[in-house]
Amino acid sequence: MIRDQLKHKQRIVIKIGSSSLIHAETGLLNFPKIEILAREVADIHNQGKDVVIVSSGAIAVGRAAMGIDKLHSLKQKQACAAIGQVRLMMIYQKFFSEYGLNTAQVLLTKQTMLDSESRDNARNTFEELFQLGVIPIVNENDTVETYDIRFGDNDRLSAIVTALIHADLLILLSDIRGLYTDDPKQNPDARFISYVDRIDEDLLSMAKSTTGSSVGTGGMSTKLSAAEIATAAGAEMIIALAEDFRILHRILGGEECGTLFKAHPHEFYLMDYLEKM
Ligand code: GLU
Repeated sequence: MIRDQLKHKQRIVIKIGSSSLIHAETGLLNFPKIEILAREVADIHNQGKDVVIVSSGAIAVGRAAMGIDKLHSLKQKQACAAIGQVRLMMIYQKFFSEYGLNTAQVLLTKQTMLDSESRDNARNTFEELFQLGVIPIVNENDTVETYDIRFGDNDRLSAIVTALIHADLLILLSDIRGLYTDDPKQNPDARFISYVDRIDEDLLSMAKSTTGSSVGTGGMSTKLSAAEIATAAGAEMIIALAEDFRILHRILGGEECGTLFKAHPHEFYLMDYLEKM
């Protein structure tokens, strides 16, 4: 049973979407949720596993802190990311320290991932952080990115991190329960898909019709691109609901939650994917 084997995963990347960290009404941080996330991740770490969090939310948190209703320019977005990123990290560090753990901020750019020396440095940094027992918290370095050269969404960024550090499981947590045959918000007949052996053309065209939430950037099609990258790099991937972060233990306990994509490792060149993005 493939679900059962999830218990044995040793290196896990967990991606959290913006909408899962904030209150929808105000855009301000949801502290009890983040506290539960920290407790869950701390416990997974205490089981001897390496865990990375890829956290969105910098722009949304910065925007709410400044009371900005709508962002009108790139520089405004980038300023909000700069403001929000520290707030996010302060809160993560606060909650993780309650469980005796340290966090580390890792901000990545597409440009640095394309450069082999920077990529090696990033990989070495992750390895050192794992050695030190620290929880790396990753985001895109939004303040220096341009429209042309950026990841743009943390779904694919988390898959690239998975490939970079040879993780064996990627968990995408957001406001979507998993993959459906159609957009469940529009079509009541949409069926839930709990297991994907291979990502084929049918699946990719199905994903085009589904939408994401209003705060993050990733819809179902960026999640499928993430699945293509992660499964090719040899990791299983799960899309699941972030409503209650205790789902992490249920997933790792082998329970049937969310959609599981089976790994199909093949010769994989991270560069090829990055250049196509
Ligand atoms: N990097 C963006 C942020 O932290 C989020 C990107 C995404 O939601 O995928 O605000």
